[in-house]
Amino acid sequence: MRRRLVDDLMDMGISQTKVIKALLAVPRHFFFETAFLEQAYQNKAFPIGEKQTISQPFTVAYQTEMLDVRAGDKVLEIGTGSGYQAAILANMGAHVFTIERHKKLHLKAKKTLQLLRYQDVNCLFGDGFKGAPAFAPYDKIIVTAAAPYIPEELIHQLRVGGIMVIPVDEQTESGDKHQQMLRITKDATDKLSYEKGHLFSFVPMLKGKKDIR
Ligand code: SAH
Repeated sequence: MRRRLVDDLMDMGISQTKVIKALLAVPRHFFFETAFLEQAYQNKAFPIGEKQTISQPFTVAYQTEMLDVRAGDKVLEIGTGSGYQAAILANMGAHVFTIERHKKLHLKAKKTLQLLRYQDVNCLFGDGFKGAPAFAPYDKIIVTAAAPYIPEELIHQLRVGGIMVIPVDEQTESGDKHQQMLRITKDATDKLSYEKGHLFSFVPMLKGKKDIR
């Protein structure tokens, strides 16, 4: 089933060998409740509780390609969710720091990643708008929730030469909201360059933390 899903993603334009290898290696069904195992290898987003979703496989593959992950990269992810995207990054040899604002989801993802022995993923409970300055600077930053704007703190925490991939809210003419995927590169003079990708639909990036109650 995983092989078939990856074939579909390749038909949709995913082509980086290292991304394809990671998609084939990480068992996406571990990030689902047992009752929903059959959904794990469909190219769809799926509810994970707390009104949140595990991103669609195509979205994960697309963002990972844009991030140009290299083994040894220190990567910050905003929006741990199920932990699947973090597992993909760790599988590619990245040192991952991932932040989640929902305590329940944070704890669950941490457990799943431990079970699968992804030792190079550090799960942090907090507000991703602030990033994780204690471990900065990062080679790469990936935001996996719809950002209302580009958070200045995250730009600060990106190293010179670093890349950030972030979906930013944009209003369509009909009034619908969707996100423009942006790839932001920081050059030696701290100047930023922007490349646009496809349009996507993410759950919103929200301020503050949500504890269990
Ligand atoms: N990357 C995830 C999917 C992300 S869904 C995966 O692979 O499963 C987006 C997640 O971002 C949700 O879990 C949501 O709670 C979280 N989120 C939203 N705003 C946030 C913020 N400010 N800081 C940290 N996490 C946030």
